Amino acid sequence: MNCLFCKIINNEIPAKIVYRDDKVLVFDDINPQAPQHKLIIPLKHIATINELLVEDNVLIGHMTQTAKKLAQELNIANEGYRIVMNCNAGAGQTVFHIHMHLLGGRTLHWPPG
Ligand code: AMP
Ligand code: ZN
Repeated sequence: MNCLFCKIINNEIPAKIVYRDDKVLVFDDINPQAPQHKLIIPLKHIATINELLVEDNVLIGHMTQTAKKLAQELNIANEGYRIVMNCNAGAGQTVFHIHMHLLGGRTLHWPPG
């Protein structure tokens, strides 16, 4: 499968990995949009949120808990942070392996572009 994030999971492409367990991998975004910009991805290949199964609920919950824990470790929990999942090209998805952006370290504006 020609998936960039599966290649990062399999160590075929380098990344600055900050956390890994049996369900998720976290690494620095190569083109950060904030002082802190991490990507939380499942080890399981799921192309878009549209392909999520009910049985993936635990996995999505674990991704959210990982983001929460990381935000605390990065000292952005109190000031505020954002988790974002883009679904399909119209929403800005460019890598078709679901991922949660964790953004923080600056004031984040609303609405997003
Ligand atoms: P999205 O546009 O929501 O699909 O997000 C994909 C993200 O992956 C973008 O923020 C990119 O900067 C990031 N990205 C693309 N290639 C790499 C890479 N090799 N290592 C780390 N992040 C990447
Ligand atoms: Zn993949």
